[in-house]
Amino acid sequence: MQGSPVSPPLFEPARALPEAGAYDVVVCGGGTSGFPAAVAAAREGAKVALIERYGFLGGVPTASIMPCWHGLSRHHSGLLTEFAQRVADFDQGPNPFENDHIEPETAKMVMLEMLIEAGVEIHLHNWLAGVTREGSRVTGVITESKSGRRVFRARAVVDTTGDGDVAAAAGADYMKGRDGKLQGMTLRFRIGHIDLARYFAWMSENRGFFRGITDERLAALKSAAAAEKAFYIGADFSPLYAEHPEIPNLPEGSYFNVSCLRPGEFSVNATRIYGVDGTVEEDLTRAEIVSRRQAYAIWRFLRRRIPGFEKSMIVDVPAQIGVRETRCILGDHVLTEEDCRANREFPDSVMTTRIAFDIHDVDRYVIETLKGVVDVPYGCFLPRGVEGITVAGRTLSCDHVANSTIRKMETAFQSGQVAGTAAALAALAGVTPRELPVSRLQAHLEKAGLYVSQEARYRQSEVVLGRRRDEPTGIVAGKNVTVHEPREAVSAA
Ligand SMILES: Cc1cc2nc3c(=O)[nH]c(=O)nc-3n(C[C@H](O)[C@H](O)[C@H](O)COP(=O)(O)OP(=O)(O)OC[C@H]3O[C@@H](n4cnc5c(N)ncnc54)[C@H](O)[C@@H]3O)c2cc1C
Repeated sequence: MQGSPVSPPLFEPARALPEAGAYDVVVCGGGTSGFPAAVAAAREGAKVALIERYGFLGGVPTASIMPCWHGLSRHHSGLLTEFAQRVADFDQGPNPFENDHIEPETAKMVMLEMLIEAGVEIHLHNWLAGVTREGSRVTGVITESKSGRRVFRARAVVDTTGDGDVAAAAGADYMKGRDGKLQGMTLRFRIGHIDLARYFAWMSENRGFFRGITDERLAALKSAAAAEKAFYIGADFSPLYAEHPEIPNLPEGSYFNVSCLRPGEFSVNATRIYGVDGTVEEDLTRAEIVSRRQAYAIWRFLRRRIPGFEKSMIVDVPAQIGVRETRCILGDHVLTEEDCRANREFPDSVMTTRIAFDIHDVDRYVIETLKGVVDVPYGCFLPRGVEGITVAGRTLSCDHVANSTIRKMETAFQSGQVAGTAAALAALAGVTPRELPVSRLQAHLEKAGLYVSQEARYRQSEVVLGRRRDEPTGIVAGKNVTVHEPREAVSAA
């Protein structure tokens, strides 16, 4: 916790904390990685509590309305594919297998139903406030809620807060960003009542502001819109922003990327703020204020300047700004950029991830898609020096560059399945996650349909990501590498 020391020191009186319950596994944070962690742990037979600060589930894809699940349509393993199928069957919004998009309200509802079906005890409106420990072993978590301060006892805890709040409270080491500089934050928002026909016509005449708009692409966008299917458009209006000094608060160094998930409505990725840390309250408050002003400034600009937006309105600014990067908990293994570039294999691998670096640093954007996948070893899930806990999601143990691929939803989700399964197996066997034999974990994950390693991926699927098993695993160095100046439009996440 940050803040200046109170002088003279102020101590809260000690008090006995009521127990909310005792569980095999307590999953902390019901977002991208927390949802699969809780489902996976419960399916192993563990008694599971899931703790979430908001009144709904999902994390970034719902609380920050991030609908682009890159790679989902090409993903064919484990709980993520099952979740995507459930989203498709729910039949509200786009089919994720067709275009990698999931409508946020659908995600909230499908996650809720799957957790209930799995028998997970859901605790919403609970803020994680600390841990209980015996020596170096975490034995539970403390939460604050309308019911007051309470303890959830746990044989194993999973930290899926995105920020590593629980692991940090337990004393785990962590690092932040590139030399302490964190990736920028973005508050998405939705604009409705857009006249798409007028916008497409203007687009056709002003292609310089858009990325990759050929006649074919424009025709594809029009037919997607006519069929009410999801589509994505990358643009950069910042040269036009410069012509509107009368509109205050327009962002600098940002693009105008949109996903269309509902007719006549854009989910907009266009605001940007740097130099803020998502684990510092004052920074978060400033980021929300600055980016909300940016959102309204962008909308005013669009209404004034861009055909099709004349009658548009902002229909939603989500619960919170999207935080790309905070703590990376340092584990027994720290996945590095070099591990990724070498498509490294590890004997204790428990999952794989496609490699697509996507770094929104203050002075540079890096978008780099590499070939193949990399193994993620179990050590990335085990915070050094702390027992009884696994971590998952964007807080997984890795360096700044590797984090930019680990943070993607496809990977964060899979890591949740791994961390939840490990916690459950350890709790049920009466050992710590670190003592759990990795071969046992790998066997359970394979049974649940996850590719635990590159080797397993190629064994179970003849053709993966367009590459056959007998092809060399090396990447094409420098291919598909783009280092952008902040003003350039990129397909960014
Ligand atoms: C602006 C933006 C754009 C992105 N674009 C893409 C993209 O196009 N494609 C892609 O694949 N990925 C994208 N990402 C990355 C991806 O969305 C995230 O990295 C990923 O969703 C993080 O998953 P997570 O489980 O670690 O955290 P989250 O999904 O954030 O889940 C954390 C959960 O923990 C809860 N929580 C946190 N702290 C506490 C606490 N103290 N007490 C109780 N509950 C707590 C939160 O409310 C939340 O539900 C983007 C991210 C951002 C911010």
